[in-house]
Amino acid sequence: MKEKIPDAHVTVLYTDVRAFGKGCEEFYQRVRAEGVNYVRRELDERIEVEKRGEGVIVSAVCEGEERKFPADLVVLATAVVPRCDAEEISRILKIPRGSEGFFLEAHPKLRPVDTAIDGVFLAGCCQSPKDIQDSVAQAVGAAIRASVPILRGYVEVEPTVAFVNEHICVGCGTCVSVCPFGAVSVEHSEATMARAVVATKAKASELRERKGVAVVNEVLCKGCGSCAAACPSGAISVLHFNERQLLAQIDALSA
Ligand code: SF4
Ligand code: SF4
Repeated sequence: MKEKIPDAHVTVLYTDVRAFGKGCEEFYQRVRAEGVNYVRRELDERIEVEKRGEGVIVSAVCEGEERKFPADLVVLATAVVPRCDAEEISRILKIPRGSEGFFLEAHPKLRPVDTAIDGVFLAGCCQSPKDIQDSVAQAVGAAIRASVPILRGYVEVEPTVAFVNEHICVGCGTCVSVCPFGAVSVEHSEATMARAVVATKAKASELRERKGVAVVNEVLCKGCGSCAAACPSGAISVLHFNERQLLAQIDALSA
């Protein structure tokens, strides 16, 4: 505005200013130095806009003081919030969300465009409020990350996945309800039960009495261990992190 109309009077009513991004703090300081008037107010202080002749009057309480600002143009900068269907997308794709409801990256510095779900990448305001420049840069990164498994033709599975002891699993389904990645299910198919009979050397009739056997999809499993912590029978554990191994680590640490 000041570039186009140098003698315009510009007032910014604000509560908090975050000059985020490269060069943005310098831009903010230059704008203030060039005479843009920044007036602070608390979010819960009264503010009203009423028409007066050709323009409007903004009446606002700013840090306890009643102020009036005649204006030709008022711009309302609304908050950036997640899309209304973010919750449903999160549920379908099982992408975790942060406390504000935006999708969560796997790691803010090391994996900024990845999500906890393999093959799902983030770009733009679905992750957090950002400008066009940052959205485009992130989209380039996400496209390149997505092209890696496509060009390679295969994906590597983590070695730390959940493992079910079919001998003691009673098919209660607790692990299914706590798994955040939909990686475990309770099955009662003939093939599963036949496999359990071989694995446990139990009689088929004994196993048939159970509700089923938990089966882990090793491609979906992230090895988070929630199922191992929740299983009432101690029938499921994470490979390389079973109870005995964890206790041995604690013993070694405490020694
Ligand atoms: S692994 Fe544990 S929690 Fe899961 S169905 Fe079997 S007994 Fe239940
Ligand atoms: S280790 Fe985590 S991701 Fe894997 S089956 Fe258990 S709860 Fe699901």
